[in-house]
Amino acid sequence: MSAVSVSPRLSCPFCHRTVAPRALRLHRWWHTSRRRDGQQQEHVTLSPAARYEGSLVGVPCVYVHRACGAYTTMPVEIIRSYLANPFLYGDETFCAGCSDYVPHRDCFWETGQSLQAYFDALRAAASPALRARAHEHYHGGVDQ
Ligand SMILES: [Zn+2]
Ligand SMILES: [Zn+2]
Repeated sequence: MSAVSVSPRLSCPFCHRTVAPRALRLHRWWHTSRRRDGQQQEHVTLSPAARYEGSLVGVPCVYVHRACGAYTTMPVEIIRSYLANPFLYGDETFCAGCSDYVPHRDCFWETGQSLQAYFDALRAAASPALRARAHEHYHGGVDQ
């Protein structure tokens, strides 16, 4: 009787479905390919169970890119992901006016605070345990 080898399956950080390791590269490539508006098909998020579940009252969600003046709305699933883990994303965000990713320091919430200052504050307030795993989180856990 021979043992059947079962390849481990990984959870995709974009769609949270399980994917065979062999298929991950192509699967991931599709998620990060650009739509006609310049935005990635999908962005990394935390699995629904791991997202921030509290109220979003008072949480900023619309930002302006000063260089072009366009306003962009932050998707709720991304807001709930970075509130739970502010290390999940890098220092760029999508601008609907530029159809591209632009630096956080050039974008401002309606409150006037820059996204860079906002994320710096969230990261500074993060638990030491979360901070220690920041690198791992930033890469979505399955970067290879
Ligand atoms: Zn996926
Ligand atoms: Zn712009």
